[in-house]
Amino acid sequence: MEALISKLNFKYHISGIVQGVGFRPFIYQLAAKYMLKGYVGNDGDGVILQIEGERNSITAFKRDIELLKPPLSRIDFIQEEQKELVGFKDFSIIESNESTISTMLSPDISTCRECLQELTNSKNRRYNYPFINCTNCGPRYTIIENLPYDREKTSMKKFFMCTECRMEYENPLDRRYHAEPISCYNCGPELVFQTFNGKVDKKQAVLSTVKYIEQGLCVAVKGIGGFHLVCDATNEKAVSTLRRNKHRPTKPLAVMFKNITDIKKVCSLTKKDQELILSKERPIVIVSKKRNHDLADSIAPNIDKIGVFLPYTPLHEILLRTLNSPIVATSANLSDEPIIGNALEIFKKIPLMIDAILTHDRKILNACDDSVMLNTKYETIMLRMARGYAPQSFYLKEKTSKKILALGAHQKSTITLALGNNMIISPHIGDLSSIEAFEYYTRTLDTLKRVYNFEPDVIVCDKHPKYETTKWAKQYVQEHSGVELIELQHHYAHALSCMAEYSLDEEVLAFCFDGTGYGDDGKLWGGEVFVASAYHYTRVYHFKELPLLGGDKAVREPKRVALSLLYECFTLEEILSMECEILKFYSIDEVKLLHKMFKRSINSPKSSSLGRLFDGVYALSGHMNDLGYEGESGAILETISKKSKTKATYKYSLKDGVIDYKMMICQILQDSNKEIIAKKFIFTISKIIIEISKEHPNIPVVLSGGVFQNNVLVSQVTKELKKLGRRYYIQSKTPVNDGGISLGQAYYAVKKYR
Ligand code: ZN
Ligand code: ZN
Ligand code: FE
Repeated sequence: MEALISKLNFKYHISGIVQGVGFRPFIYQLAAKYMLKGYVGNDGDGVILQIEGERNSITAFKRDIELLKPPLSRIDFIQEEQKELVGFKDFSIIESNESTISTMLSPDISTCRECLQELTNSKNRRYNYPFINCTNCGPRYTIIENLPYDREKTSMKKFFMCTECRMEYENPLDRRYHAEPISCYNCGPELVFQTFNGKVDKKQAVLSTVKYIEQGLCVAVKGIGGFHLVCDATNEKAVSTLRRNKHRPTKPLAVMFKNITDIKKVCSLTKKDQELILSKERPIVIVSKKRNHDLADSIAPNIDKIGVFLPYTPLHEILLRTLNSPIVATSANLSDEPIIGNALEIFKKIPLMIDAILTHDRKILNACDDSVMLNTKYETIMLRMARGYAPQSFYLKEKTSKKILALGAHQKSTITLALGNNMIISPHIGDLSSIEAFEYYTRTLDTLKRVYNFEPDVIVCDKHPKYETTKWAKQYVQEHSGVELIELQHHYAHALSCMAEYSLDEEVLAFCFDGTGYGDDGKLWGGEVFVASAYHYTRVYHFKELPLLGGDKAVREPKRVALSLLYECFTLEEILSMECEILKFYSIDEVKLLHKMFKRSINSPKSSSLGRLFDGVYALSGHMNDLGYEGESGAILETISKKSKTKATYKYSLKDGVIDYKMMICQILQDSNKEIIAKKFIFTISKIIIEISKEHPNIPVVLSGGVFQNNVLVSQVTKELKKLGRRYYIQSKTPVNDGGISLGQAYYAVKKYR
């Protein structure tokens, strides 16, 4: 009788990432450990469980939930309620209940240690099986059609589980209990190697691929979220052929290595780099290349950095173990188009880029690129948020009263949904300059809407009238009466994206530096300093505006920006009598004509962009090439700046809200050493940030925008801010570039409708 009296009954509702990550069996085992009775099940909002037992056991059970939770899970909130005793006889796992669907979609995760052990154990029935996975690893987002996450709602539904797999799947004590993509040689997907002359190989698919790669050929390999173009990273001819075929002259290519030891042979890694490379998310990490390495030079020309990563699927693992060298693994796509996810598209779109294809019959339902990250002196920065990290959800303490859809910008686009207590940001979709890219964008949007059963009450888009996303938003609200539209300034959204990541709800001093965004005055902004909160912003400083000769043309040709800088600082007569490298590229007539364009603002939109100032300084200091990719000038200036030891800076002035660089340009023309110019320029930008920060001493500093992908700049600024004891924020979980815009947009609406 007494034993019964001391028993208690509690019901818990746990929200966060708790479905499809082994949470129910974890609870099941924990309940067994503490001899508790009751049940656990999924519901639309997370995991629900009720337990009955001794007080001490329940306390220990509760503590262990937080302490020992499965590696892929994340607990946002536990709601506790004491209940009447029921007298449960045992502990059971109950079936999914589909009533409401707002629970979270989890990202794909690299092969776990246990699976790797089985993969390499010749006695295991999944020895060398390229699709091995378990509750703690494997595909998620890329194979999901709908929630709740169940095999029937994934692209695994066409594979009928064999008896052995089913036994594992149904046993709560097995590490593959409800591992939805579970399979084996008897029942799962199959690899196929295919060449263009129709040769098909199933038995030796990996070996055939390896042979091709070793011969210097290029193979399209199906990964978790799409195809990679793969070739031998030490074979210069193979790499430059791939570049030529892909029309990608200089943009760095990522390299996949067998293990961390091999990476260390060619790269200098910090401790933080190693941890990040080995993390279960397995992103591409931008690290320093050693002087002596055996990688092909054309992998990352003119810069001292390289993107490296480790195998993250069993297939990559097997492939790399069989190969003798690291491989280039770059997304298979046409430039401006999204990553390709099915074999037919490969044959249709890029047959000339490849010599063969290694594919399989597990469909990729949602394509997903690789994530890219960078460690600076103090901070880790997200450059591209995709596989391993996205879709990512942010927990909101206060529920939003509206369903909010934020569309992002135009480049590096992402989508964010806000509903209930969550903001969910999509994986990187990419630039929306082609029809294919925008189709991919709307497909991603459809997936999110379907999975979260979501129809927006509010849409947030950029202010730029010509962005595809803006046009889409305007049309949508026209066709759906009652849906509200918010057009938000691009750089304010940058500031908000950082504030969203850190749940800031106070006034901040935000430095929003990037390539281009549409300003409130219709001009192109990009070097903006705001005093901002989640509700309003004031532009307190901006870089001096500069006409961009020929508009978009100037974005590709830094020489044009340099010329503008000269026009800005000198008279035409002075320029014509100057000794300056860029002037050799223009005839006297051209210099005069462009000057007229400049003076009369003909096809020369004004821009305060810091990205363009980087371009201009790049050309002024003697780099005459056109850019092969966005941000190349910054990357090269960063690389060469490291060779200079100077701590000197250039002169500038801060007056009436304008950051004026005229004095700096004059000084640059007197410096002849490219490395010194690069270093002094980057340090000057840092000094400007610090000086303005001192003018606003009592509010935290926010750094956002593509310019903050520059390692030297970020390391220097954060060092100085730390010295001053200033609180500062820079994004590390969400993209610091335009990939973060949708999150910032959503945050604004969330705050407006809380
Ligand atoms: Zn595993
Ligand atoms: Zn099986
Ligand atoms: Fe931007």
